[in-house]
Amino acid sequence: MIEIKNISKWYGEFQVLTDCTTAVQTGEVVVVCGPSGSGKSTLIKCVNALEPFQKGEIIVDGISVGDPKTNLPKLRSRVGMVFQHFELFPHLSITENLAIAQQKVLGRGKEEAMNKGMKLLERVGLKAQANKFPGQLSGGQQQRVAIARALAMDPIAMLFDEPTSALDPEMINEVLDVMTELAREGMTMMCVTHEMGFARRVADRVIFMDRGSIVEDCSKDDFFGAPRGERAQQFLSKIL
Ligand code: ADP
Ligand code: MG
Repeated sequence: MIEIKNISKWYGEFQVLTDCTTAVQTGEVVVVCGPSGSGKSTLIKCVNALEPFQKGEIIVDGISVGDPKTNLPKLRSRVGMVFQHFELFPHLSITENLAIAQQKVLGRGKEEAMNKGMKLLERVGLKAQANKFPGQLSGGQQQRVAIARALAMDPIAMLFDEPTSALDPEMINEVLDVMTELAREGMTMMCVTHEMGFARRVADRVIFMDRGSIVEDCSKDDFFGAPRGERAQQFLSKIL
């Protein structure tokens, strides 16, 4: 579903990604972890073309992300992304937040978009909040709305960038539970997270990045069983 081939990227003189290669199969859940500044956010932003890259190729569902002919808004709508900060529209109600991209990007009618939004709100346990505004919801609730909003676009894959790291501890699990359910339903997912409990329970594979390179890319069991590299071991010893 997602093929990342020999990606290198520079911000000016600074090389942020060095020859990153990996792939995510359909239905696979891959957790990306590594120290702050190692390039995790940059790598997943490259996947849905939020960041350009100078070398290599990324293919999402057969579409080349770096090809100038690729319809990027359409690609982005098919690859859902959830960020650390929820980025809901503060002046729109929850239902409107869920409907707007469906209407503007996919051309759905208002009623269809609203109905779809309500179904997804129910799925993330927030039907009762439909007419509220983002500011009236807790951080965990807002993040669940952000996930529902991405799902409303019928994505073929979901990218998560530290979706729980800005949340109070008691709200982390409600978001991880939604992600876990999504994974169990077969969604293809690439998740930057340091929630190693989630990784152990849900991931198929773990990628460990350091200084712009993928230094481990292995099954969850191998990663937690016997991380081969010293840097990954150090990292795990600090966060576990
Ligand atoms: P991570 O998500 O693993 O913490 P990032 O992908 O955010 O890492 O950043 C990787 C490196 O690239 C960091 O050193 C960061 O300072 C740098 N960086 C990120 N965004 C930019 C930018 N827009 N311009 C210049 N450097 C950046
Ligand atoms: Mg990051």
